[in-house]
Amino acid sequence: MRAIVLMLGLTLSGCAYVNPLIEDFNIVSVEQEKVLGDQVAGEIRKEMRIVSDAGLNLRVRRLGERLESALPPHPFDYQFYVVEDKTPNAFSVPGGGIYVHTGLLDFVDDDNQLAGVLAHEIGHMYERHPAKSLSRAYGIEQLSGLIFRDNKNQFRTIAFQLAGGGFLMQYSREDELEADALAYQLLRRSGMPTNGLMRFLIKLNNLYGSGHSIPFMSTHPPTPERINRLEIMERTGGQVISQPVRSI
Ligand SMILES: [Zn+2]
Repeated sequence: MRAIVLMLGLTLSGCAYVNPLIEDFNIVSVEQEKVLGDQVAGEIRKEMRIVSDAGLNLRVRRLGERLESALPPHPFDYQFYVVEDKTPNAFSVPGGGIYVHTGLLDFVDDDNQLAGVLAHEIGHMYERHPAKSLSRAYGIEQLSGLIFRDNKNQFRTIAFQLAGGGFLMQYSREDELEADALAYQLLRRSGMPTNGLMRFLIKLNNLYGSGHSIPFMSTHPPTPERINRLEIMERTGGQVISQPVRSI
């Protein structure tokens, strides 16, 4: 599939550098993102094994819905899925789909860590990072052709390319920090322990180090930086340094 993606000349990979001028650039509407999300969900069903085990699904959905209910009004209903994959990871796709690997369920020490990861993914959704990521990856010229014409075939093409990239959205450093900060607030508003995400990242960092092989949000910012910021939020009740964070 990767070869096909390259042939199409529209790969989503290699987005390590984000032009700061287009950091907040988003020209994908909610409706367009929902259509794209349906296409992506279809590709995921083809590419990955969705786990039907009722107990595992309930475990994830119960936490996810508790977190979601603590959010202000938001455009997407989030759906939570468990997929068969041994790496301790989770990912979100356009339109509200949040996918948790079975390896993450095995890896976490407790449900508070799992809730921390889910809160981070919900943070991406709430801030519409998938749409921003698409806007950055394709640019206005491509998207005006692909999306403004509401061309279903082109939506399918993007979904196919996301599948080729392992469904990992290319989020920016600021997106990741914003999702962490929102996760902290969301855990607090949900009445859950606020240190779940931080404890998860510490465990991950101890196991994998801070290199690029770390599975969860594999690129930037470095995991110790994220841990450090979450520690500060813990100490100060949610204050973060040098990063304006929208409160919810
Ligand atoms: Zn993230």
